Amino acid sequence: MCWIKKHLSNILLLSFLPITALAGADYNYHGTLNIIPGTGHIRANWQITVLDDTENNITFFLRNTLGEVEVEGASIKRFDISQGEEVEGLETAPFRKLQFELAEQPSPRVIHISYAGVLLPEPMHNLINAIEPGRIELNVDSFWFPIDARFNKLLTADLTVIVDGEWQGVTTGEVEIIEDGVHILNTDPRQDIAMTLSQSFRISEADGFTVYDQRDNSKGLQKLMEAARVCKQYLDRQFGTVKPLPRGKLLITKRSSSGYARQNYVVFTDISSAETGPLTRFVCHEFAHYWSIGADFTTVENWLNEAFAEYIGVMAVREHLGEEAYLQMLQSFRDNITAKDLPPVWVSGDTKRGPYLVQYRKAPLLLAELETRIGRDRFMQYTQAWLLQPVRTTPALLELLEQITDKDERDWFEQALGSSETLQ
Ligand SMILES: [Zn+2]
Repeated sequence: MCWIKKHLSNILLLSFLPITALAGADYNYHGTLNIIPGTGHIRANWQITVLDDTENNITFFLRNTLGEVEVEGASIKRFDISQGEEVEGLETAPFRKLQFELAEQPSPRVIHISYAGVLLPEPMHNLINAIEPGRIELNVDSFWFPIDARFNKLLTADLTVIVDGEWQGVTTGEVEIIEDGVHILNTDPRQDIAMTLSQSFRISEADGFTVYDQRDNSKGLQKLMEAARVCKQYLDRQFGTVKPLPRGKLLITKRSSSGYARQNYVVFTDISSAETGPLTRFVCHEFAHYWSIGADFTTVENWLNEAFAEYIGVMAVREHLGEEAYLQMLQSFRDNITAKDLPPVWVSGDTKRGPYLVQYRKAPLLLAELETRIGRDRFMQYTQAWLLQPVRTTPALLELLEQITDKDERDWFEQALGSSETLQ
Protein backbone atom coordinates (compact mmCIF):
# COMPACT_ATOMS: atom_id res chain seq x y z
CA MET A 1 0.00 0.00 0.00
CA CYS A 2 2.98 2.30 0.21
CA TRP A 3 2.45 3.22 -3.41
CA ILE A 4 -0.92 4.69 -2.65
CA LYS A 5 0.21 6.51 0.44
CA LYS A 6 3.10 7.95 -1.43
CA HIS A 7 1.17 8.92 -4.47
CA LEU A 8 -1.88 10.41 -2.93
CA SER A 9 0.31 13.03 -1.40
CA ASN A 10 3.06 13.28 -3.94
CA ILE A 11 3.15 15.89 -6.61
CA LEU A 12 5.21 14.17 -9.24
CA LEU A 13 3.22 11.05 -8.76
CA LEU A 14 3.78 8.64 -11.43
CA SER A 15 7.23 9.35 -12.64
CA PHE A 16 7.99 6.68 -10.02
CA LEU A 17 5.56 4.31 -11.51
CA PRO A 18 7.13 1.39 -13.18
CA ILE A 19 5.72 -0.49 -15.96
CA THR A 20 6.66 -3.90 -17.19
CA ALA A 21 6.32 -2.96 -20.81
CA LEU A 22 8.45 -5.82 -22.05
CA ALA A 23 5.55 -8.13 -21.29
CA GLY A 24 2.20 -8.40 -23.08
CA ALA A 25 -1.08 -7.08 -21.71
CA ASP A 26 -2.85 -8.58 -18.69
CA TYR A 27 -6.21 -7.00 -19.53
CA ASN A 28 -8.02 -5.48 -22.44
CA TYR A 29 -10.43 -2.68 -21.56
CA HIS A 30 -13.16 -1.97 -24.08
CA GLY A 31 -15.76 0.59 -23.21
CA THR A 32 -17.62 3.85 -23.38
CA LEU A 33 -17.37 6.84 -21.11
CA ASN A 34 -19.99 9.58 -21.06
CA ILE A 35 -18.78 12.82 -19.55
CA ILE A 36 -20.69 15.98 -18.64
CA PRO A 37 -17.96 18.60 -18.19
CA GLY A 38 -20.30 21.14 -16.59
CA THR A 39 -21.12 18.87 -13.63
CA GLY A 40 -18.18 16.44 -13.61
CA HIS A 41 -20.60 13.55 -13.95
CA ILE A 42 -19.39 10.40 -15.72
CA ARG A 43 -20.99 7.14 -16.73
CA ALA A 44 -18.70 4.28 -17.72
CA ASN A 45 -19.39 0.92 -19.23
CA TRP A 46 -16.50 -1.53 -19.58
CA GLN A 47 -15.90 -4.99 -20.88
CA ILE A 48 -12.65 -6.06 -19.28
CA THR A 49 -11.11 -9.16 -20.80
CA VAL A 50 -8.83 -11.05 -18.41
CA LEU A 51 -5.98 -12.19 -20.62
CA ASP A 52 -4.09 -14.14 -17.97
CA ASP A 53 -5.84 -17.52 -17.73
CA THR A 54 -4.30 -18.24 -14.35
CA GLU A 55 -5.93 -15.26 -12.61
CA ASN A 56 -8.99 -16.42 -10.68
CA ASN A 57 -9.09 -13.84 -7.90
CA ILE A 58 -8.94 -10.24 -8.94
CA THR A 59 -9.42 -7.05 -6.98
CA PHE A 60 -10.00 -3.73 -8.67
CA PHE A 61 -10.05 -0.31 -7.05
CA LEU A 62 -12.62 2.25 -8.16
CA ARG A 63 -13.15 5.76 -6.82
CA ASN A 64 -15.74 5.72 -4.05
CA THR A 65 -17.58 8.73 -5.42
CA LEU A 66 -18.76 6.49 -8.22
CA GLY A 67 -21.93 4.50 -7.59
CA GLU A 68 -24.54 2.45 -9.40
CA VAL A 69 -21.89 -0.23 -9.76
CA GLU A 70 -23.14 -3.20 -11.74
CA VAL A 71 -21.15 -6.21 -12.80
CA GLU A 72 -21.94 -9.09 -15.06
CA GLY A 73 -20.07 -11.97 -16.67
CA ALA A 74 -20.55 -15.68 -17.27
CA SER A 75 -17.32 -16.59 -15.48
CA ILE A 76 -17.97 -14.56 -12.31
CA LYS A 77 -18.42 -17.01 -9.39
CA ARG A 78 -18.46 -14.39 -6.68
CA PHE A 79 -18.43 -10.61 -6.48
CA ASP A 80 -17.97 -8.37 -3.43
CA ILE A 81 -17.80 -4.65 -3.11
CA SER A 82 -16.33 -3.04 -0.02
CA GLN A 83 -14.69 0.13 1.13
CA GLY A 84 -10.91 0.33 0.56
CA GLU A 85 -8.55 0.31 3.53
CA GLU A 86 -7.74 3.49 5.34
CA VAL A 87 -4.90 5.47 3.89
CA GLU A 88 -2.59 7.41 6.12
CA GLY A 89 -3.28 11.11 6.08
CA LEU A 90 -6.78 10.72 4.71
CA GLU A 91 -9.95 10.12 6.64
CA THR A 92 -11.17 7.50 4.25
CA ALA A 93 -9.61 5.65 1.37
CA PRO A 94 -10.77 7.29 -1.87
CA PHE A 95 -11.68 4.00 -3.49
CA ARG A 96 -13.83 0.93 -3.18
CA LYS A 97 -12.63 -2.60 -3.65
CA LEU A 98 -14.34 -4.70 -6.30
CA GLN A 99 -13.37 -8.31 -5.63
CA PHE A 100 -14.02 -11.03 -8.17
CA GLU A 101 -13.66 -14.74 -8.02
CA LEU A 102 -13.68 -16.16 -11.53
CA ALA A 103 -14.28 -19.58 -12.96
CA GLU A 104 -11.84 -20.84 -15.54
CA GLN A 105 -14.54 -20.90 -18.19
CA PRO A 106 -15.92 -19.63 -20.46
CA SER A 107 -12.72 -18.43 -22.01
CA PRO A 108 -11.81 -15.66 -22.64
CA ARG A 109 -13.19 -14.36 -19.37
CA VAL A 110 -14.92 -11.03 -19.70
CA ILE A 111 -16.08 -8.85 -16.81
CA HIS A 112 -18.68 -6.19 -17.55
CA ILE A 113 -18.57 -3.28 -15.12
CA SER A 114 -20.67 -0.14 -15.26
CA TYR A 115 -20.84 2.76 -12.83
CA ALA A 116 -21.75 6.43 -12.66
CA GLY A 117 -21.36 9.52 -10.52
CA VAL A 118 -19.54 12.78 -10.06
CA LEU A 119 -15.92 11.61 -10.08
CA LEU A 120 -14.41 14.54 -8.19
CA PRO A 121 -16.96 16.49 -6.16
CA GLU A 122 -13.95 18.18 -4.56
CA PRO A 123 -10.87 18.96 -6.68
CA MET A 124 -7.90 16.68 -6.08
CA HIS A 125 -4.94 18.08 -4.25
CA ASN A 126 -2.61 18.45 -7.24
CA LEU A 127 -5.34 19.45 -9.73
CA ILE A 128 -4.14 16.98 -12.36
CA ASN A 129 -7.27 14.88 -12.57
CA ALA A 130 -10.12 17.21 -13.43
CA ILE A 131 -13.34 17.39 -15.39
CA GLU A 132 -14.17 20.99 -16.10
CA PRO A 133 -15.44 23.10 -18.96
CA GLY A 134 -12.74 23.06 -21.63
CA ARG A 135 -10.45 20.50 -19.95
CA ILE A 136 -10.75 16.83 -19.03
CA GLU A 137 -7.58 15.25 -17.66
CA LEU A 138 -7.70 11.75 -16.26
CA ASN A 139 -5.24 9.15 -15.08
CA VAL A 140 -5.12 6.29 -12.63
CA ASP A 141 -4.55 8.55 -9.63
CA SER A 142 -8.24 9.43 -9.56
CA PHE A 143 -9.29 5.75 -9.84
CA TRP A 144 -11.66 6.79 -12.59
CA PHE A 145 -11.45 3.32 -14.12
CA PRO A 146 -11.22 -0.01 -12.27
CA ILE A 147 -7.51 -0.62 -11.69
CA ASP A 148 -6.03 -3.93 -10.59
CA ALA A 149 -5.13 -3.48 -6.92
CA ARG A 150 -1.57 -4.63 -7.56
CA PHE A 151 -0.87 -1.55 -9.70
CA ASN A 152 1.56 -3.46 -11.88
CA LYS A 153 -0.72 -4.96 -14.49
CA LEU A 154 -0.67 -3.91 -18.11
CA LEU A 155 -3.70 -3.07 -20.12
CA THR A 156 -4.68 -2.12 -23.60
CA ALA A 157 -7.69 0.13 -24.05
CA ASP A 158 -10.31 0.90 -26.65
CA LEU A 159 -12.51 3.65 -25.30
CA THR A 160 -15.20 5.81 -26.83
CA VAL A 161 -15.57 9.07 -24.92
CA ILE A 162 -18.92 10.74 -25.46
CA VAL A 163 -18.94 14.40 -24.61
CA ASP A 164 -20.77 17.47 -25.91
CA GLY A 165 -18.82 20.04 -27.86
CA GLU A 166 -15.68 19.92 -29.96
CA TRP A 167 -12.73 18.28 -28.26
CA GLN A 168 -9.22 17.24 -29.16
CA GLY A 169 -7.34 14.65 -27.18
CA VAL A 170 -3.98 13.14 -26.30
CA THR A 171 -3.13 9.77 -24.76
CA THR A 172 -0.28 7.25 -24.92
CA GLY A 173 -1.83 5.74 -28.04
CA GLU A 174 -4.09 7.20 -30.71
CA VAL A 175 -6.98 9.64 -30.47
CA GLU A 176 -9.54 9.96 -33.23
CA ILE A 177 -12.15 12.70 -33.23
CA ILE A 178 -15.61 11.22 -33.77
CA GLU A 179 -19.05 12.73 -34.14
CA ASP A 180 -20.00 12.73 -30.46
CA GLY A 181 -16.60 12.85 -28.80
CA VAL A 182 -13.28 11.10 -29.23
CA HIS A 183 -12.10 7.54 -29.63
CA ILE A 184 -9.04 6.46 -27.61
CA LEU A 185 -7.07 3.46 -28.83
CA ASN A 186 -4.11 2.29 -26.75
CA THR A 187 -2.73 -0.89 -28.26
CA ASP A 188 0.67 -0.60 -26.58
CA PRO A 189 0.06 -2.19 -23.13
CA ARG A 190 0.32 0.28 -20.27
CA GLN A 191 -0.52 0.45 -16.64
CA ASP A 192 -2.79 3.42 -17.03
CA ILE A 193 -5.42 4.89 -19.28
CA ALA A 194 -4.09 8.42 -19.16
CA MET A 195 -5.62 11.07 -21.36
CA THR A 196 -6.31 14.74 -21.68
CA LEU A 197 -9.09 16.28 -23.73
CA SER A 198 -9.17 19.97 -24.45
CA GLN A 199 -11.23 22.48 -26.39
CA SER A 200 -8.25 24.78 -26.86
CA PHE A 201 -5.12 22.77 -27.68
CA ARG A 202 -2.58 24.39 -29.91
CA ILE A 203 -0.93 21.47 -31.66
CA SER A 204 2.59 21.40 -33.13
CA GLU A 205 3.55 18.34 -35.14
CA ALA A 206 7.19 17.34 -35.58
CA ASP A 207 9.07 14.32 -36.82
CA GLY A 208 8.34 11.59 -34.24
CA PHE A 209 6.38 13.63 -31.71
CA THR A 210 3.52 16.07 -31.21
CA VAL A 211 3.23 18.92 -28.73
CA TYR A 212 -0.17 19.86 -27.29
CA ASP A 213 -0.15 23.29 -25.68
CA GLN A 214 -2.93 24.25 -23.31
CA ARG A 215 -1.55 27.71 -22.57
CA ASP A 216 -2.45 30.84 -24.44
CA ASN A 217 1.17 31.73 -25.22
CA SER A 218 4.14 29.89 -26.75
CA LYS A 219 6.90 30.71 -24.27
CA GLY A 220 9.48 27.93 -24.17
CA LEU A 221 7.73 25.93 -26.89
CA GLN A 222 10.68 25.96 -29.28
CA LYS A 223 13.04 24.86 -26.50
CA LEU A 224 10.78 21.96 -25.67
CA MET A 225 10.47 20.94 -29.32
CA GLU A 226 14.25 20.98 -29.65
CA ALA A 227 14.64 18.86 -26.49
CA ALA A 228 12.08 16.35 -27.73
CA ARG A 229 13.76 16.17 -31.14
CA VAL A 230 17.15 15.52 -29.53
CA CYS A 231 15.77 12.89 -27.15
CA LYS A 232 13.74 11.04 -29.73
CA GLN A 233 16.74 10.82 -32.09
CA TYR A 234 19.31 9.99 -29.43
CA LEU A 235 17.21 7.34 -27.72
CA ASP A 236 16.02 5.65 -30.86
CA ARG A 237 19.58 5.54 -32.17
CA GLN A 238 20.93 4.01 -28.96
CA PHE A 239 18.07 1.83 -27.78
CA GLY A 240 15.36 1.75 -30.40
CA THR A 241 16.67 -0.78 -32.88
CA VAL A 242 14.66 -3.59 -31.33
CA LYS A 243 11.77 -1.58 -29.96
CA PRO A 244 11.56 2.01 -31.18
CA LEU A 245 9.90 4.67 -29.06
CA PRO A 246 6.27 5.22 -30.05
CA ARG A 247 5.29 8.70 -31.20
CA GLY A 248 6.05 11.16 -28.39
CA LYS A 249 3.09 13.10 -26.99
CA LEU A 250 4.04 16.18 -25.03
CA LEU A 251 1.38 18.15 -23.22
CA ILE A 252 2.12 21.59 -21.82
CA THR A 253 -0.32 22.59 -19.10
CA LYS A 254 -0.97 25.93 -17.42
CA ARG A 255 -0.06 24.46 -14.03
CA SER A 256 2.96 25.73 -12.14
CA SER A 257 3.53 22.30 -10.57
CA SER A 258 2.45 18.70 -11.06
CA GLY A 259 3.89 17.15 -14.17
CA TYR A 260 3.91 13.41 -14.80
CA ALA A 261 4.76 10.95 -17.51
CA ARG A 262 3.72 7.70 -19.10
CA GLN A 263 6.86 7.07 -21.15
CA ASN A 264 5.96 8.54 -24.55
CA TYR A 265 3.18 10.73 -23.05
CA VAL A 266 4.79 13.44 -20.96
CA VAL A 267 2.81 16.15 -19.21
CA PHE A 268 4.66 19.33 -18.36
CA THR A 269 4.01 22.21 -16.08
CA ASP A 270 4.22 25.65 -17.67
CA ILE A 271 7.68 25.47 -19.27
CA SER A 272 8.00 29.20 -20.00
CA SER A 273 11.22 29.61 -18.06
CA ALA A 274 12.71 26.10 -18.35
CA GLU A 275 16.42 25.85 -19.19
CA THR A 276 17.63 23.76 -22.12
CA GLY A 277 19.86 21.38 -20.14
CA PRO A 278 17.42 20.27 -17.42
CA LEU A 279 14.56 20.25 -19.93
CA THR A 280 16.50 17.93 -22.24
CA ARG A 281 17.44 15.67 -19.35
CA PHE A 282 13.84 15.58 -18.15
CA VAL A 283 12.34 14.71 -21.55
CA CYS A 284 15.01 12.08 -22.22
CA HIS A 285 14.55 10.60 -18.73
CA GLU A 286 10.83 10.15 -19.30
CA PHE A 287 11.21 8.76 -22.80
CA ALA A 288 13.99 6.44 -21.53
CA HIS A 289 11.46 4.78 -19.23
CA TYR A 290 10.05 3.19 -22.34
CA TRP A 291 12.95 0.79 -21.90
CA SER A 292 14.21 1.51 -18.38
CA ILE A 293 11.37 -0.17 -16.56
CA GLY A 294 10.36 -3.45 -15.05
CA ALA A 295 12.41 -3.55 -11.85
CA ASP A 296 10.07 -3.87 -8.86
CA PHE A 297 9.18 -0.25 -8.10
CA THR A 298 8.08 -0.99 -4.56
CA THR A 299 11.52 -2.19 -3.51
CA VAL A 300 15.17 -1.17 -3.46
CA GLU A 301 15.36 -2.33 -7.09
CA ASN A 302 13.53 0.77 -8.27
CA TRP A 303 16.95 2.45 -8.45
CA LEU A 304 17.47 0.47 -11.67
CA ASN A 305 14.44 2.09 -13.32
CA GLU A 306 15.29 5.61 -12.21
CA ALA A 307 19.08 5.82 -12.23
CA PHE A 308 19.40 4.46 -15.77
CA ALA A 309 16.66 6.78 -17.04
CA GLU A 310 18.31 9.72 -15.32
CA TYR A 311 21.82 8.93 -16.53
CA ILE A 312 20.59 8.36 -20.07
CA GLY A 313 19.13 11.89 -19.77
CA VAL A 314 22.53 13.18 -18.69
CA MET A 315 24.29 11.38 -21.56
CA ALA A 316 21.82 12.96 -23.99
CA VAL A 317 22.73 16.36 -22.58
CA ARG A 318 26.41 15.57 -23.23
CA GLU A 319 25.63 14.51 -26.77
CA HIS A 320 23.55 17.60 -27.48
CA LEU A 321 25.13 20.39 -25.41
CA GLY A 322 28.68 19.14 -25.05
CA GLU A 323 31.18 18.09 -22.44
CA GLU A 324 31.03 21.27 -20.37
CA ALA A 325 27.25 21.06 -19.88
CA TYR A 326 27.63 17.38 -18.96
CA LEU A 327 30.28 18.07 -16.31
CA GLN A 328 28.26 20.93 -14.88
CA MET A 329 25.22 18.70 -14.59
CA LEU A 330 27.17 16.02 -12.74
CA GLN A 331 28.54 18.70 -10.44
CA SER A 332 25.02 19.92 -9.72
CA PHE A 333 24.10 16.33 -8.84
CA ARG A 334 27.03 16.18 -6.41
CA ASP A 335 25.99 19.52 -4.94
CA ASN A 336 22.50 18.10 -4.37
CA ILE A 337 23.83 15.34 -2.16
CA THR A 338 26.92 16.78 -0.49
CA ALA A 339 26.76 16.61 3.25
CA LYS A 340 23.67 14.45 3.10
CA ASP A 341 23.64 11.28 5.09
CA LEU A 342 22.50 8.89 2.39
CA PRO A 343 22.17 5.11 2.58
CA PRO A 344 23.82 2.82 0.00
CA VAL A 345 22.15 2.36 -3.39
CA TRP A 346 21.95 -1.40 -2.99
CA VAL A 347 23.24 -4.01 -0.60
CA SER A 348 22.44 -7.69 -0.98
CA GLY A 349 19.41 -8.45 1.17
CA ASP A 350 18.01 -4.90 1.07
CA THR A 351 14.35 -4.61 0.26
CA LYS A 352 13.30 -1.06 1.08
CA ARG A 353 13.11 1.50 -1.68
CA GLY A 354 15.80 4.15 -1.37
CA PRO A 355 15.16 7.87 -1.04
CA TYR A 356 14.87 10.15 -4.07
CA LEU A 357 18.43 11.46 -3.79
CA VAL A 358 19.83 7.93 -3.83
CA GLN A 359 17.85 6.84 -6.88
CA TYR A 360 18.09 10.07 -8.91
CA ARG A 361 21.42 11.55 -7.85
CA LYS A 362 23.78 9.16 -6.09
CA ALA A 363 23.11 6.14 -8.33
CA PRO A 364 23.42 8.09 -11.63
CA LEU A 365 26.73 9.51 -10.35
CA LEU A 366 27.93 5.95 -9.80
CA LEU A 367 26.90 5.07 -13.34
CA ALA A 368 28.96 8.06 -14.54
CA GLU A 369 31.92 6.78 -12.56
CA LEU A 370 31.50 3.30 -14.00
CA GLU A 371 31.40 4.82 -17.48
CA THR A 372 34.68 6.63 -16.85
CA ARG A 373 36.27 3.36 -15.67
CA ILE A 374 35.17 1.10 -18.51
CA GLY A 375 34.99 3.64 -21.34
CA ARG A 376 32.03 5.26 -23.07
CA ASP A 377 31.65 2.68 -25.83
CA ARG A 378 31.62 -0.25 -23.46
CA PHE A 379 29.31 1.54 -21.07
CA MET A 380 26.83 2.16 -23.89
CA GLN A 381 27.09 -1.47 -24.94
CA TYR A 382 26.40 -2.44 -21.34
CA THR A 383 23.40 -0.11 -21.06
CA GLN A 384 21.97 -1.36 -24.35
CA ALA A 385 22.35 -4.99 -23.26
CA TRP A 386 20.80 -4.18 -19.87
CA LEU A 387 17.74 -2.49 -21.33
CA LEU A 388 17.07 -5.49 -23.54
CA GLN A 389 17.45 -8.17 -20.94
CA PRO A 390 14.28 -9.22 -19.11
CA VAL A 391 15.45 -9.84 -15.53
CA ARG A 392 15.55 -6.50 -13.71
CA THR A 393 17.44 -7.07 -10.50
CA THR A 394 20.75 -5.73 -9.23
CA PRO A 395 22.37 -9.20 -9.17
CA ALA A 396 21.42 -9.59 -12.86
CA LEU A 397 22.93 -6.17 -13.59
CA LEU A 398 26.18 -7.13 -11.85
CA GLU A 399 26.28 -10.45 -13.67
CA LEU A 400 25.93 -8.65 -16.99
CA LEU A 401 28.70 -6.24 -16.05
CA GLU A 402 31.03 -9.12 -15.38
CA GLN A 403 30.17 -10.63 -18.76
CA ILE A 404 30.85 -7.39 -20.59
CA THR A 405 33.92 -6.36 -18.58
CA ASP A 406 35.49 -8.55 -15.91
CA LYS A 407 35.21 -9.60 -12.30
CA ASP A 408 37.25 -6.64 -11.05
CA GLU A 409 34.79 -4.15 -12.49
CA ARG A 410 31.87 -6.08 -11.12
CA ASP A 411 33.44 -6.15 -7.66
CA TRP A 412 34.21 -2.45 -7.82
CA PHE A 413 30.66 -1.58 -8.84
CA GLU A 414 29.06 -3.84 -6.27
CA GLN A 415 31.20 -2.26 -3.59
CA ALA A 416 30.35 1.25 -4.83
CA LEU A 417 26.60 0.49 -4.78
CA GLY A 418 26.95 -0.77 -1.21
CA SER A 419 28.93 2.19 0.04
CA SER A 420 27.40 4.87 2.21
CA GLU A 421 30.35 7.20 1.75
CA THR A 422 29.87 10.58 0.15
CA LEU A 423 30.87 10.65 -3.50
CA GLN A 424 33.88 12.67 -4.58
ZN1 LIG B 1 11.71 8.29 -13.75
